Amino acid sequence: MVTGHTQVYGLFGNPVAQSFSPFIHNMLAVETGQDMTYVTFKVDTGKFGLAMNGFDGLNLQGVNVTVPYKSEVMHYLDEVKGEAKIIGAVNTVVREGHRLVGYNTDWIGLKKSLDLNGVDLLGKTVLVIGAGGSARAVAVICAKSGVKKLVMTNRTASKAESIAEELAKHYELDCEVISLADLKHREDLQVAFQTTPIGMYPHIENNPVYESKVYQTLEVAVDLIYNPKETHFLREASLAGAKTVNGLGMLFYQAVAAFELWRNIKIDETIQDKCYKAFIGAMDEKMSR
Ligand code: NAP
Repeated sequence: MVTGHTQVYGLFGNPVAQSFSPFIHNMLAVETGQDMTYVTFKVDTGKFGLAMNGFDGLNLQGVNVTVPYKSEVMHYLDEVKGEAKIIGAVNTVVREGHRLVGYNTDWIGLKKSLDLNGVDLLGKTVLVIGAGGSARAVAVICAKSGVKKLVMTNRTASKAESIAEELAKHYELDCEVISLADLKHREDLQVAFQTTPIGMYPHIENNPVYESKVYQTLEVAVDLIYNPKETHFLREASLAGAKTVNGLGMLFYQAVAAFELWRNIKIDETIQDKCYKAFIGAMDEKMSR
């Protein structure tokens, strides 16, 4: 029950109405017995600075930040910690005393999802399609996981090149940027991450990779999209025999990581499993409507 003692957390973004974060965080709060509540704040264009001042003024305890503010938020923080600096995006703000500190938990959520699905990137040649904020999170995971080679492709090649340059400052990584047209000549790709919005509901028949040859060598295909659960890209990969992973696990576990930072606790694995199952059940119900 929300009382005068309940601490308030939220999501800053636009749009936020369809977000599943309130469902996840309020369920985690109940299951872990934390006296907190989580709500969404739609922040209109040009108002993000006001929202961040409000965060401080109203003594909110923490927020998630989503599209389109994951980079802009960095100007309002006292410190950006960990991989968020390399990724160049913050999705979680934590009040630490009088300071506002930014983290990126997207990569933590995706890594946990990969681990739970038994995906090991060590020694693999990995393709990343797209070069936005989430592609940067994927690239960091690849660099930390000891991939043999990272192959990146993006509509705007210069963005993929700047990720490669940034990674080279922090990691020893064999990185190659290729054009989408050149994808069809590759026969060495073992894992592929699809990080663009192509194929997202309602445009579910769209796919950035129509060349069937690309799928033939894939052992694992990951799509960060979670609606639909199986994108056209994942369906093609599955038909070719690859293991597939969608974005639902990333979505859930980035929230778990944010929650743990805010409340300074570790959520028991059994509680995480229980909440994840409830989350998947709720998503299935919502998507079948
Ligand atoms: P972003 O920073 O806006 O980057 C989007 C990328 O997709 C860019 O590289 C862009 O290419 C490319 N792209 C967009 N539309 C395209 C099109 N029509 N044709 C070719 N390329 C196109 O977005 P993001 O934050 O990385 O998110 C990307 C996807 O990941 C979204 O679908 C989002 O839902 C998903 N995501 C999922 C989770 C999760 O928890 N599961 C978390 C974060 C993101 P250009 O560089 O050429 O513009």
